[in-house]
Amino acid sequence: MRYREDKDQSAELLRLALPLMARQSAALHPISYTLWYEHVAGINPPLSNVLEASLAGKLPLGEDDVYDLHARYVVARDMEVLERLQRKLRDLLEEAAQTAAAALEDSGQFEATLRDTRSRLTDATSLEGVHAIIAELARETTRMQSATEAVHQRLESRAREVEHLTRALEQARSEALLDPLTGLKNRRGFELAVSELGNGGSPFKGAALVLADIDHFKQINDRHGHLLGDKILKAIGQTLQSNIKGRDIAARPGGDEFAILLQQTPLSGARTLAEQIRAAVAAGRIRRADSNEQPGSVTLSIGVAVGGEEDTLESLLARADAALYAAKRAGRNRVSVDTNDAPAAVLAIR
Ligand code: GH3
Ligand code: MG
Repeated sequence: MRYREDKDQSAELLRLALPLMARQSAALHPISYTLWYEHVAGINPPLSNVLEASLAGKLPLGEDDVYDLHARYVVARDMEVLERLQRKLRDLLEEAAQTAAAALEDSGQFEATLRDTRSRLTDATSLEGVHAIIAELARETTRMQSATEAVHQRLESRAREVEHLTRALEQARSEALLDPLTGLKNRRGFELAVSELGNGGSPFKGAALVLADIDHFKQINDRHGHLLGDKILKAIGQTLQSNIKGRDIAARPGGDEFAILLQQTPLSGARTLAEQIRAAVAAGRIRRADSNEQPGSVTLSIGVAVGGEEDTLESLLARADAALYAAKRAGRNRVSVDTNDAPAAVLAIR
């Protein structure tokens, strides 16, 4: 959602949010700040209820609580805004259609009046009679003109509202479906994009899923701070983007996990791509802005699974996840492939 506060107001909110945020055990990163900002700004009452209860119970919020509240009260709220806008747009279009239909009915009546007048004119026997018919016709024409003008204005104003709503809808849609940090799709965006794949009713047939998770990310955050953690997430998002093609769907479904759905890609191709991404991330150089220090090597463990005719997103994710955890168990910084019925085979890299 778009925040409406100006610089002074937001500075005041920062002053109010900081001491509340500092009482928690979670770090002071943007996810925590979003919660406390929205709370002190009074713009997210359901979230405020939860935060007030936690303040009253003197239960400091930890990292996991903060991410969980963010998903439930900030991301989900943006989704509700999207749905509300969609409903409003549907209502507006319906109303415009009714207005147009009523105008059509009106002009049908006018046409009938014209026909009737013509036959009455033919039958008129006196000049007075003709005058009366002409006066009636003039009245009817004026009425029709002003009715048409009103319909025109009404439709024009509806068109403006539709345009405005469409823009708001586009913005809400991208906010609700994209991860603001990396610009990749979020979990909902990923699920939606995947659900739109037709592929003759078997969306995953011939597709491959690559699931990656940063190794020991908690430690990196703890040692170097969330800002650097966020920088790493961003850099990995960019690495993913630069390694995929137009039809592939890349996402950060949550936390330190990334997913790519590759269409029409055999296991060997998906494994090669996963390996390229793994190697690029392991070779990457990210430095702390304050000290220029490097956080040691940042590595990914990656699981790969190929889809079959019967696969759902859930079943494919479960197999890629099993392969990912095989890679973690085998020592991390490696790619593991799901071999369907056989246990996941680990492709040792180092
Ligand atoms: P493993 O190698 O087993 O994956 O270890 P890990 O420490 O990476 O595992 P875990 O999944 O427990 O930790 C993920 C961490 O990611 C926890 C959370 O603090 C951090 N995290 C989740 N979302 C964000 C975010 O948006 N920014 C930052 N900086 N950290 C995040
Ligand atoms: Mg991890």
